[in-house]
Amino acid sequence: MTDIRIEVSGLHKAFGSLEVLRGIGFTTPRGTSTVLLGPSGSGKTTLLRSLNALDIPDSGVVRIDDVSVDFSLLPPGKAGRATARDLRAQSGMVFQSHNLFPHRTVLQNITEGPVVAQKRPPDEVVAEARVLLDQVGLADRADSYPYQLSGGQQQRVGIARALALKPRVVLFDEPTSALDPELVGEVLSVIRDLAAQGWTMVVVTHEIRFAEQVADQVLFLDGGVIVERGTPERVIGDPQEERTRRFLRRVL
Ligand code: ADP
Repeated sequence: MTDIRIEVSGLHKAFGSLEVLRGIGFTTPRGTSTVLLGPSGSGKTTLLRSLNALDIPDSGVVRIDDVSVDFSLLPPGKAGRATARDLRAQSGMVFQSHNLFPHRTVLQNITEGPVVAQKRPPDEVVAEARVLLDQVGLADRADSYPYQLSGGQQQRVGIARALALKPRVVLFDEPTSALDPELVGEVLSVIRDLAAQGWTMVVVTHEIRFAEQVADQVLFLDGGVIVERGTPERVIGDPQEERTRRFLRRVL
């Protein structure tokens, strides 16, 4: 049996009267990448944020590995927040811009979460952080401060920081959209490496060529529903739905 790492069903989310997610369901097998494509406002970021309970859906179920949350049954108050926290701990999130602590070094930025939040032994965490820095091509920048790095380097530190928490899955929310064009490639290349190493990930991106290279599965969203899904060869190379074709014509 395939090991399904992420399982989502019946996800609904409204902001006031605006229905942003209207019954989303999909699965992501362990060690594979799912890429979310779709026009601006289609619900991609809200879906991604729902996967780790940064946004709380109105109903639906999200399971990541062995933590499952049925949002229709989420208890109010503290108990609900605790359940959401369990789900959040399953994933590492990489945002559009990294939000690194400006007054801490690169190494300190990476070790803070595992040492303070996860209470893991500092020596071990530092050793792992150095391996991660090497992996994102920044072994020599451990003692630099964020302002001394380019935007692409800062974003790579953000990726190392997310991985240091040893998440079950990594969620990327348009990880290159805030970067100057010449810095996009180095960040995409790191994400491609992670996919090749077998990290399970969900990526929101507008980089269609990158999506083709990295995705095992593409979900095309429009109006809060998944309009089309399949391999990149299928969805990007041979789209069946007019809405997908229109989107691809605009962005390619
Ligand atoms: P995408 O990532 O595909 O651009 P989003 O998930 O960011 O789409 O947004 C979907 C819709 O939900 C948009 O119309 C957006 O304005 C709205 N939205 C997102 N977050 C909020 C929020 N916190 N409050 C109100 N509306 C929101």
